Amino acid sequence: MVPFEYVNASKLEDLPTLLSRKWNESVVLAGGTDLLDMLKERLIQPKRVVNIKNIKELYGIQNGQNLKIGALTTIAEIAQNEMIRKKYPVLAQAAFSIATPQLRNMGTIGGNLCQRPRCWYFRGREYVCLKKGGSKCYAAEGLNKYNAIFGGGPSFIVHPSDSAPALRALGASVEVFGPDGTETIPLDEFFELPIDNLRRENVLRPNEIITKIVVPEPEPGTRSIYLKFREKQSMDFAISSVAAVLQMDGQRVKKASIVLGGVAPIPWRAEAAQSELEGNVLNEGVIKKAAAAAVSDAQPMKYNAYKIQLTKNLVRRALEQLA
Ligand SMILES: Cc1cc2nc3c(=O)[nH]c(=O)nc-3n(C[C@H](O)[C@H](O)[C@H](O)COP(=O)(O)OP(=O)(O)OC[C@H]3O[C@@H](n4cnc5c(N)ncnc54)[C@H](O)[C@@H]3O)c2cc1C
Ligand code: SF4
Repeated sequence: MVPFEYVNASKLEDLPTLLSRKWNESVVLAGGTDLLDMLKERLIQPKRVVNIKNIKELYGIQNGQNLKIGALTTIAEIAQNEMIRKKYPVLAQAAFSIATPQLRNMGTIGGNLCQRPRCWYFRGREYVCLKKGGSKCYAAEGLNKYNAIFGGGPSFIVHPSDSAPALRALGASVEVFGPDGTETIPLDEFFELPIDNLRRENVLRPNEIITKIVVPEPEPGTRSIYLKFREKQSMDFAISSVAAVLQMDGQRVKKASIVLGGVAPIPWRAEAAQSELEGNVLNEGVIKKAAAAAVSDAQPMKYNAYKIQLTKNLVRRALEQLA
């Protein structure tokens, strides 16, 4: 770890002066479960680390007209919250699927959305790939078993967060605080593909932070589920996952929101699957068509075509469980 200055921010208003306008001069510390690895591996070498954990307004879960979750709320608090389990099962299930109890106790929801990719070339100090400012994507012709089947190029990372597909499927937004004040950004617009932003994964600027996540009240008749496939059942990142939120009108699907995890550089909205579902009775035939549509535009790499069938099966199972 390269030495750095450590600063405690005690209120939001401290941040514009503490955080630099340039990446890697300063960095935000929440639970530290990802950031400390990045620092120890010297993947980032900031001059200053700004601890935000003393900022009181970043904590807590409020359920009024919308669900509001402070960015420093831990993953464990979300997984265990009775109201979230009842009203937003997809979010509680996604949170529960993350890592281990210890990591869920330390890791925050803001940090989970902003965590950096797990591509082993990105995490390996010896590889200076495109995402780290180098000239080559090592995964493109290398070991790409875990990389993207959608939305890849020129980097083929997959977004590692489990909460992100669930929150995107629920139509959530993030509130972002920066030098210009507070802004609300729908998650549909928050994450960015490598083709638009090669070095980062979202629209946040270096001196901005997520302060809270806002999730709309579910419409009557809404059902939701999160299914995740991982190699190690004890704890692992998603090889593929699906967040499915259906608003039902009797047997018919009024509105469908299907977002895939572990298969694209951003939580990936399966628009073709949504179209197959909306307006139709949720029967075996429709489910089969929607599952096939979810992967119809997949572009596998040399070693990850297995993710297509896997994802198709996950979508089918998720929809069967919601039927
Ligand atoms: C062994 C292991 C297994 C894991 N398994 C999973 C898994 O199965 N599923 C999954 O989803 N995740 C998994 N994770 C990732 C883990 O969930 C994240 O590391 C954690 O959620 C990050 O939260 P944190 O508060 O510790 O963030 P930190 O480590 O403090 O920060 C992470 C990043 O987010 C930035 N950041 C933090 N908070 C904010 C904010 N409010 N606004 C803007 N930027 C911010 C930091 O600057 C940093 O870049 C795993 C991690 C480990 C180490
Ligand atoms: S997929 Fe992205 S992070 Fe991985 S080697 Fe290629 S450029 Fe680097």
